[in-house]
Amino acid sequence: MTRIGVLALQGDFARHAQAFAEIGHAPVEVRHARQLAGLDGLVVPGGESTALLRLMDHEPWFPELRRFHSAGGALFGTCAGAILLAREVRDPAQPSLGLIDAVIRRNGFGRQIDSFETRLELAGSERPLPAVFIRAPRFVELGPRVEVLARLDGEPVLLRQDRVLAGTFHPELTHDRRLQRMFLDMVTESLQNGENKSTETTASAHPGPVAQERRVSC
Ligand code: GLN
Repeated sequence: MTRIGVLALQGDFARHAQAFAEIGHAPVEVRHARQLAGLDGLVVPGGESTALLRLMDHEPWFPELRRFHSAGGALFGTCAGAILLAREVRDPAQPSLGLIDAVIRRNGFGRQIDSFETRLELAGSERPLPAVFIRAPRFVELGPRVEVLARLDGEPVLLRQDRVLAGTFHPELTHDRRLQRMFLDMVTESLQNGENKSTETTASAHPGPVAQERRVSC
């Protein structure tokens, strides 16, 4: 059984924990960097990335999260969590972990559509994926090893690089659990492959999935 944690410093961690519990993988709530020891995967929830960074000041989170990743741990960042994982953050610039080779722009969807619900085409799946975007960031540059798993109007909104998954929406707020299962599969795969997994590339060209519908919900 894989051991999953959810970073529980700030943001929507309780709903993430509930979403994984629904599919039989109740995660540990991680409030201290030392709790990363013994985990195979970590979910970094959405919320407010600046608040998250302030809360992380109290412990050596950045070196411990990088160590967790390089030791084979898988990460799933959503919204503010994706901001934290990115290589570079813009508007404004702020520190990030650089665990996925992407540049992200905070609040990149602008004011008039700052929160909305839509359905995405998910690579490898025939059914559209419901997705809730809340003051969502936007991926503006991707490195060559980054695989795009879902797009909105042609723009990437769900990325994977090796054992890091990053999405700009909130998969915990819908009833669809395919992304939670996808992450658990990644964790299992990473465990089976051992640490050498990080030296392989998963870059590939999926045909661009497109958003099928968009409506402003709040
Ligand atoms: N706009 C937030 C930020 O910049 C992210 C919003 C979210 O996580 N829903 O951190």
